Amino acid sequence: MQNVDVLVIGGGPGGTPAAMVLAQAGRSVMLVEAGPGLGGTCLFQGCIPSKIFRESAARLDDLARAARLGVRPAVPQPTIDWAAVQARRREVLERRAEGALAQARGIPTLEVVFGRARLTGSRRAVIEMRGKRREVGFERAILATGSLPNRLPVPGAELPGVLTSEGLIDIGYVPKRLALIGGGPIGVEMAQIFHLLGSAATILEAGSRILEPVDAVLAERLTQRLRRGGITVSTGVEVRSIEAEDGRYLVRYTSGAKELVAEADVVVMATGRHPNVDHLGLDQTRVRYNRHGVHVDAQLQTDEHGIFAIGDLVGHPMFAHWASAQALAVAGHLLGLPEAFPSPDRNSAVIFSRPELSMAGLTEEAARAAGHPVSVAEYDYRGDARAQIDDDADGLLRLVYRSDDRRILGVHALKEGSSEIIGEAALAVAGGLRIEQLASAVHPHPTLTEAFGFAARRAGHPLANAL
Ligand code: FAD
Repeated sequence: MQNVDVLVIGGGPGGTPAAMVLAQAGRSVMLVEAGPGLGGTCLFQGCIPSKIFRESAARLDDLARAARLGVRPAVPQPTIDWAAVQARRREVLERRAEGALAQARGIPTLEVVFGRARLTGSRRAVIEMRGKRREVGFERAILATGSLPNRLPVPGAELPGVLTSEGLIDIGYVPKRLALIGGGPIGVEMAQIFHLLGSAATILEAGSRILEPVDAVLAERLTQRLRRGGITVSTGVEVRSIEAEDGRYLVRYTSGAKELVAEADVVVMATGRHPNVDHLGLDQTRVRYNRHGVHVDAQLQTDEHGIFAIGDLVGHPMFAHWASAQALAVAGHLLGLPEAFPSPDRNSAVIFSRPELSMAGLTEEAARAAGHPVSVAEYDYRGDARAQIDDDADGLLRLVYRSDDRRILGVHALKEGSSEIIGEAALAVAGGLRIEQLASAVHPHPTLTEAFGFAARRAGHPLANAL
């Protein structure tokens, strides 16, 4: 049996950086990955492929809108070559997976093993690899096996045209009609991407609104945008069954007392994800878990001393950058560095809708629930120079700050391009900046970042009326 300092199970955005940092610091590390390469859900079924699709959809949409900017396309009707989009996806994925593997293999004390790992005790694991088995002993382990898509337990959920987001990523055509069950980030992003590509899209959401944890004002504005754009958004519904009939699917659902049907060629279950504890051997250890994830303490250590868990496996928030932030914190902790563990209050995220909905820190609702004295300053992009230049001025920025010491608690923007500027807001939140500090930063003109200064100066600043 081979012995290593650290065993890392799962080579996604959580496990991979943890393994690399520890090995670069001289620890002997084994990184075990069950899939085809390093990158995890994010690379193969999540962030990257969905954003590759989005880029094609957005360019198509830009062409459709170009006439308003005085651009007269030579070909009147732009179309989408879906096979080319899928080929580009595969090419980018391969390139990134190869890059990650080459980088990992360049670290002498890091061994990457492709196989499925299972704990067999508090300091041992077995790895199954195409008929072969290897046993490994470890001093420390980091579990980073991610999450798996949920399927609603309704009749018809297993029919062949009822996909999860993973099946949708692999789809060979743009369906004429797409029904998405679930109005979370994945459902909303996919509905809009495929709608822009030509699908008639329907979102069926059980909750009273889509994007439940997101800023309520912005989620409402986005809902209106989606509806105006032609996407059917039904909230407060209960899906009862899915039936296959004449090559199409009938999603039967209720809305109050009404019984309704959505017809679709493809149905996608976008009903969230659950931590992947399958066949991980947790019951051979003291690690405790439930359907929300593996139980960890403030240092992400499980109930089994020396075994840590990170990323989607630990539960919400489920984001690639969050998994990586936790990975680096655990790695630093194991190296004896004084690491600050990431706090959900200071997370940032983007819903890649069109326009993008970007956020850093707490929503107004979450800040109030946490007991902060809360004020909100808003800036409407309708008067914004950059937004007008872009012909995309229907957007809103919301700054959430403490009424007493004026520290910024959260920043939320519904604006195309906001994904690229929200990092500034993340820094303001993480650094505990006050409104006046954001107001006094000199933002370049005409850019979307100016809105941070404008919004901050609207928060009771003496110069507010001059703007
Ligand atoms: P994963 O990325 O799931 O990696 C876990 C790895 O563990 C997998 O490679 C798996 O094969 C491996 N594994 C599992 N069991 C074993 C085992 N027993 N032995 C060995 N290996 C094992 N996040 C964002 O931040 N931005 C986005 O835009 C975004 N878009 C998304 C879009 C979609 C459609 C989806 C589904 C997700 C999206 N996410 C996005 C979420 C993001 O993909 C996840 O939060 C992130 O991948 C979690 O990282 P992780 O390392 O915890 O787990």
